[in-house]
Amino acid sequence: MELAARIRKIPDFPKPGILFYDISTLLIDPAAWRETIGRLAEAARAFRPEVLAAIESRGFLLAAPLALELGVGFVMVRKVGKLPGTVVSHSYDLEYGSDTLQLADGLIRRGSRALVVDDLIATGGTAAASVELLRKVGAEVVGALFLIELEGLEGLARLPVPGRSILRFPA
Ligand code: AMP
Repeated sequence: MELAARIRKIPDFPKPGILFYDISTLLIDPAAWRETIGRLAEAARAFRPEVLAAIESRGFLLAAPLALELGVGFVMVRKVGKLPGTVVSHSYDLEYGSDTLQLADGLIRRGSRALVVDDLIATGGTAAASVELLRKVGAEVVGALFLIELEGLEGLARLPVPGRSILRFPA
């Protein structure tokens, strides 16, 4: 099945000059979504993860069915102020300014093999920050998995862990 054709491309969103890759047109098609999760599961198994760490918010959509398919748990890497209880934070630099990601403290067993999951990797900044956050709570980050990789930005090469993607598109 041609999964790449199921991804909708929206020019100038959320700002001029950005070509947005929208997975809504994949989610609405159950056969294509089933195939997507199957292909992600095959790639994920090679990392032998014990827990998936999904990046807000589209990473959650991938990681929830993927975790069930693999028989592992998943944790949410969230933006500031969304998680209840004690959290661990990690701030990282953006082109202009900075951003912060958070994870519940004490949720992941120390030494767990964690796999970062998101819908798309562009520069790799968000995923790299997620790796640092997971390391802060004592996880062993074994890799990162994305449905889409934007070519030419070298996002996977910038990660401190091995990364894989299923589909590749121009940035
Ligand atoms: P980056 O940190 O540059 O790798 O950006 C990755 C994050 O931003 C992911 O959570 C993506 O969902 C989102 N993102 C970045 N660029 C795009 C794009 N062109 N289309 C859709 N989502 C994007």
